[in-house]
Amino acid sequence: MRLHSLTIQGFKSFPSRTRIRFSSGISAIVGPNGCGKSNIVDAIRWVLGEQSPSMLRARSMEELIFSGGDGRRAAMAEVRLKVTGCRAQGIPWLEGQEEVEIVRRLHRSGESEYRINGRRCRRKDILYLFMDTGATVRGYAMVDQGQVGRFVEMGGEERRLLLEEAAGVARYRARREEARRRLEKTRENLQRLDDLLGEVEKQARRVARQAERARRYRELRERAEAVEKGLRALEWKMLRQEELGLLEATRSLGEEMEGMELE
Ligand code: ATP
Ligand code: MG
Repeated sequence: MRLHSLTIQGFKSFPSRTRIRFSSGISAIVGPNGCGKSNIVDAIRWVLGEQSPSMLRARSMEELIFSGGDGRRAAMAEVRLKVTGCRAQGIPWLEGQEEVEIVRRLHRSGESEYRINGRRCRRKDILYLFMDTGATVRGYAMVDQGQVGRFVEMGGEERRLLLEEAAGVARYRARREEARRRLEKTRENLQRLDDLLGEVEKQARRVARQAERARRYRELRERAEAVEKGLRALEWKMLRQEELGLLEATRSLGEEMEGMELE
């Protein structure tokens, strides 16, 4: 990947549109003290996604928007960085595009945006695009005054991260981290599912017990009904017999009385 050009407008000491074309070989920017050389490096850092104002030698992000001593103020800071020889792996809609232009804008209202080839994107997409190129927010490709000394003084872990980025393994490390996070999340989901399953099983057992009780109730009720029916039949039979007996007695009594009258 090569830097092709940088366009700055409204950023720090650049009120009007300024374009810097990096030709092949080495480009050097020279100028008197305070003319804005370091601001160019800040612009590159910023467009690559730097979030800390102090890393850009400012106290706030708003301080990055041009503000002249004569009261002239830009409404918005914009930095465009065009790179060529881009690998753009892992970003489907960029795959195969050799030339990529990234843009970062910041309005005084605080509203900000990132774009890759005109398309609005997240800061994360920009970081991913430049991962392993060294030109990352805190990458090794930008060396400030005093940083060489800092590298020497760095702790092992910090130095290893820088070397890993230079060796091109940072992308894989990031992917591994992401995979690990996803795995952890899946594990948590699985645990939640297990808990849910336990709860459902408990409920199922409760419902089964209720169903068993309902079945037993129906069975007993049917038996009670049958017994009731039998009792009624028996009662009816007994009453019928009593009725027949009474009828018979009435009839023979009648006959008896008839005989008496005839006499
Ligand atoms: P040196 O050679 O001393 O390192 P330099 O060329 O690197 O100088 P820079 O540090 O890039 O200079 O620029 C500093 C200048 O940028 C200062 O004059 C400062 O006022 C100006 N500046 C920074 N932020 C803004 C801003 N928001 N609006 C206008 N000017 C700004
Ligand atoms: Mg400087």
